[in-house]
Amino acid sequence: MLKVRFAPSPTGPLHIGGARSALFNYLLARKEDGVFIVRSEDTDLERSSRESEHNIMEALRWLNIQWDEGIEVGGDNGPYRQTERLALYQEYTDRLLASGDAYYCYCSEEELEQERQDLMAKGETPRYLGKCRHLSAAERQTYEAAGRKPVVRFRVPEGRQILINDRVRGEVVFDSDGIGDYVIVKSDGIPTYNFAVVIDDTTMNITHVIRGEEHLSNTPRQVLIYQALGLPTPEFAHISLILNTEGKKMSKRDGDTAVIDYQAKGYLPEAVVNFIALMGWSPPGEEEFFTLEEMTQAFSLERVSKSPAVFDLNKLNYMNAHYIKQADPERLTDLAVPYLREMGAIPQGTLSEEERAWVTHYVQAIINHLSYMAQVKDFVHYVQGGEAPTPEGEALEILQGEQVPAVLDLFVEKLKSLEAIRVDTVKPLFKQITKETKLGGKQVFMPIRIALTGQMHGPELYDIVPLLGLENVLSRLAGTKA
Ligand code: GLU
Repeated sequence: MLKVRFAPSPTGPLHIGGARSALFNYLLARKEDGVFIVRSEDTDLERSSRESEHNIMEALRWLNIQWDEGIEVGGDNGPYRQTERLALYQEYTDRLLASGDAYYCYCSEEELEQERQDLMAKGETPRYLGKCRHLSAAERQTYEAAGRKPVVRFRVPEGRQILINDRVRGEVVFDSDGIGDYVIVKSDGIPTYNFAVVIDDTTMNITHVIRGEEHLSNTPRQVLIYQALGLPTPEFAHISLILNTEGKKMSKRDGDTAVIDYQAKGYLPEAVVNFIALMGWSPPGEEEFFTLEEMTQAFSLERVSKSPAVFDLNKLNYMNAHYIKQADPERLTDLAVPYLREMGAIPQGTLSEEERAWVTHYVQAIINHLSYMAQVKDFVHYVQGGEAPTPEGEALEILQGEQVPAVLDLFVEKLKSLEAIRVDTVKPLFKQITKETKLGGKQVFMPIRIALTGQMHGPELYDIVPLLGLENVLSRLAGTKA
């Protein structure tokens, strides 16, 4: 049975790249009726926290990426936190020590640093040259007696080619000679990533390791450990780096990198997850909008590209705008409320039915202008009290047109005669005015629009008027004429 995993280090929020790894694992597991495990690589004791771990899980849940086994879910292969698996790592360390595939190393930081410097001065790759490879029992005792705490190093075999048949990158060959004996257990007894990950993957029966390209260079180190233990290696699939639209490594300037930032701005999770999937995966066919379910059907590692993926915020905004237009109005209302509340556009407490209906109407009126929900703040000035923003340039010129006072007067007159100000009662007024004044449609609605909003573009007038309410409309129009 196919078994995959996502193994974040809980040292910060879930980034877009991590979310993509999680998503590709999830999709493959669902597609193949496999199992998806989420576990925590928390061996960096200083930088890891339970809070980050929980936040990562929340971000995954927000994206609707669910896992079958692991953190906060449990399962038969637990514990799922590396710091809770130390005894298991110890067992495998003992095996490697006993077989001679690992050894204790007592070199001090200073000695190692010196070695690094010397190699670099000679233009060679810094690596451990194996000083403690062949220590005698007596030499070990001397170090122990001096109080030195050893690390455990893996004994890298000489002259070995390590072939990785990567499902995304194809055949990749590494030479063991460039690697140098690497640490698998630190002097405090905590295993390093390259060792712990192998033990986790093998004891959890992981069949496919799908992760970011930055781990490709770690893979030969991991493969050597599998080989030393006589264990089969899983399949590997290293997905490409994510670059910005200029082809450089993505940074904060290209857009937020943490998933939670997109949640905070009111992006819809189904849009984010769809966007993330397309960074590296190209669906068969032309369609680019997919539900998770549809993605699962269409997904395959064969269609994951080995060229770098591009993070294009404009594309995300375009996709999110599409999803917003399709979303249930009630859901959008719920999403809009916190932003409107934050800026004081609506009351703090529970909203009355009327207030809530206002928000719903407001969001629907501006929906074509929204890339993400936090932007509901940007249009409030169109529809809330006080004076209209002062028109400038062309807008001001239009407002100074000869027939404008007559148009505005007629509009006021008609508004006042309505039994109620609603979309359906306001909508016909503009046609009526056009007929009565014999002016063109634009000559009628443009001055009204500018008088009410200061702008030549924006939400529909028949939305703006009811949202503003009669009183505000009258005072804005009066302000114009004064
Ligand atoms: N903790 C590693 C990371 O977050 C996991 C690497 C792996 O999947 O093996 O990048």
